[in-house]
Amino acid sequence: MNFPEPRPRAERAAVIDLAAIRHNVRHLSHVVSPARVMAVVKADGYGHGAVETARAAVEAGAAWLGVAHISEALALRKAGITEPVLAWLHTRDAEFGEAIRANVDLGVSGWDLDAVVAAARDLEIPARVHLKIDTGLGRNGCPEDLWEAFVGRALAYQEEGLLRVVGIFSHFAVADEPHRPETDEQLRKFRDAVAVAEDAGVDREVRHIANTPGALSRPDAHFDLVRIGLGMYGLSPFAGQSSAELGLRPAMSLRSTIAACKEVPAGQGVSYGLHYRTKEPTTLALIPLGYADGIPRVATGGPVQVDGQTYPVVGRVAMDQMVIDLHRTGIAGTPDSFEGREVVLFGGEGQPSVDDWAAAAGSINYEIISRISGRVQRVYVDTAAAGDAPAEAPPIALEAAPGAPAPAPAAEAGQEQAVRAQ
Ligand SMILES: *Cc1c(COP(=O)(O)O)cnc(C)c1O
Repeated sequence: MNFPEPRPRAERAAVIDLAAIRHNVRHLSHVVSPARVMAVVKADGYGHGAVETARAAVEAGAAWLGVAHISEALALRKAGITEPVLAWLHTRDAEFGEAIRANVDLGVSGWDLDAVVAAARDLEIPARVHLKIDTGLGRNGCPEDLWEAFVGRALAYQEEGLLRVVGIFSHFAVADEPHRPETDEQLRKFRDAVAVAEDAGVDREVRHIANTPGALSRPDAHFDLVRIGLGMYGLSPFAGQSSAELGLRPAMSLRSTIAACKEVPAGQGVSYGLHYRTKEPTTLALIPLGYADGIPRVATGGPVQVDGQTYPVVGRVAMDQMVIDLHRTGIAGTPDSFEGREVVLFGGEGQPSVDDWAAAAGSINYEIISRISGRVQRVYVDTAAAGDAPAEAPPIALEAAPGAPAPAPAAEAGQEQAVRAQ
């Protein structure tokens, strides 16, 4: 499905289709049922807007929300979101008291257990914690040999009324490469850790280890909850499999318009370093997006679609702009007829994809979407309002964020949109 055309057009827009997010959450919920989905909306919802995507995910059945930082969790609470939220990456300067007061669940794996308890003691409110075991990723889980003692400390605090152990969790290292044996090993260690905790008397609500690739490739890793980030934004975590093959719909389309267009002779150098020179007389078009907008500087060759045709970026990507070579002369009318035409860097079916940009940048789709910067306006559309949604899905209420311009009038009957100023 292609993205609707928002009106009025933003100069630079990341168009987010909330119906695609709901579709993806429903689809993944079905895949992992009876386990539930935690919608991961860290990093501003992977660039899609944390609050907007969290609301869409909850509407589609996500039971939990997940973020890295406490500050990200507090932003969800401030927006009025009341579902359980887990935050799992803390420093010694983290606002544990604020988190406890806002009923935010906290992942803990070492020193942070005592810090959380100190804040709970001050507030006289028990903290909700999820104990994290390192099953092989080598980041912040509790090492296996310290696990039993760690669980014992948490239970002692629980006896004192200072916390409640809500969950036990871990995180996969190579689930995006399903043939690798390390995932089996991680699962074995996770089951052992859960057994140790339960034998010690932990009466947890949820066990969770799977991310998107784990949820899709390992039914034996679903447990009670899966933490879904990339999949809910409609992208594939697997190198050899597309979104469509996984039943997912990309939720973001990145667009702008041609800022300037001109005919040039053979031998014209293009952009800093003059690493590209035209081989023959041609027409160049200037795209007003650059690395400060989140287009990787190394992504020369990345695809830009104009009028259904795709052209690679030539020369260097600069801070604010980049150039495509239209490879033609004497184009319909004059070059200025191209100025103002829409360009699509990535979008839906028949358009270049986030994966194409990841390939051009030698990176992964996660990085491309999460780095689209605040200079690019987020524009929300909802294709379900045009009759695309299953009957059980009420159209989402779209509102501009506080301080944002008023929502633009709907382009066509049945298509709603909202704009968030960045
Ligand atoms: C980011 C993150 C996820 C989500 O991973 P995806 O592959 O995007 O689904 C899950 N769990 C943790 C701990 C994370 O940091």
